[in-house]
Amino acid sequence: MQLKEALKEAAERLKGAGFSTSVLDAEVLLAYVINRERPFLYSHPDYVLTGEEKWRYEELLRRRLNHEPVAYLVGKKEFWSRPFLVDRRVLIPRPETEVLVEAALELARRFSVPGLKIIDVGTGSGAIGITMAAEIERVLVLATDISRDALAVATENARRLKVKEKMDFVLCSGLEGISGAFHLILSNPPYVPTGEIDHLPAGIRDFEPLIALDGGVTGTELHGELIREAKKRLVPGGWLVLEVGGETRGIEKIALEEDSYDEMKIINDYHGQARVLALRKSNRTDHG
Ligand code: GLN
Repeated sequence: MQLKEALKEAAERLKGAGFSTSVLDAEVLLAYVINRERPFLYSHPDYVLTGEEKWRYEELLRRRLNHEPVAYLVGKKEFWSRPFLVDRRVLIPRPETEVLVEAALELARRFSVPGLKIIDVGTGSGAIGITMAAEIERVLVLATDISRDALAVATENARRLKVKEKMDFVLCSGLEGISGAFHLILSNPPYVPTGEIDHLPAGIRDFEPLIALDGGVTGTELHGELIREAKKRLVPGGWLVLEVGGETRGIEKIALEEDSYDEMKIINDYHGQARVLALRKSNRTDHG
């Protein structure tokens, strides 16, 4: 079987099964199986698959048709133009989370201190924390997660992306057990309300870690906890930057009840959805 045939057949099967990204999925899986980049598929359409390649392609296609995310099938996802290893131990980094990184990098530039201190709470694959470590020259990033499995993935990503010496990894829940003061506290906490988990697309619901998705009854429980705890771990003028789901009113209300913060920003993603909520800890020292 030639590449062009393999591609056409797989794309048709995926399309028939209702996958909107059928061609892209087929391309990514096929390129992965023959260990080439995607353009090779079109520059060498007559390349004939070996028996083993054909068999492996068929197996990946079968898994894809069962809704397993492409990122897990190929073990990799690009985030802020860097390749992150991913598997079922971690949430797949989303492009929306780049909005948080962009905001955090902008806020980081406001501090003219020699060594910035940042925490990424619930680091998962390490996407946020590792990107900050890679983009900022003099920085220390503490990456935490409640999942030992996730920390193993994040540590491996930090090693591969050559930022391990700028980072520390801590197994803990939220900010429990963390001491010291940080300029930025960043987090993409789970924010799917428990009752909505069953209605998520199968690819997310059946494959991504529940612990990385389930945000409690309201979907904002972890945001509330972080807003209440972060003020104790921020320097005056430091920022808490959280990724949020569509609904921000509940979180805004919690934030307004706290008098330790004196500025709030809400940033939309490329779809016009509120995606990031940032809170600045006030310079006053009589609170928190
Ligand atoms: N921090 C990781 C990310 O943004 C994981 C987030 C999570 O598991 N909720 O991709």
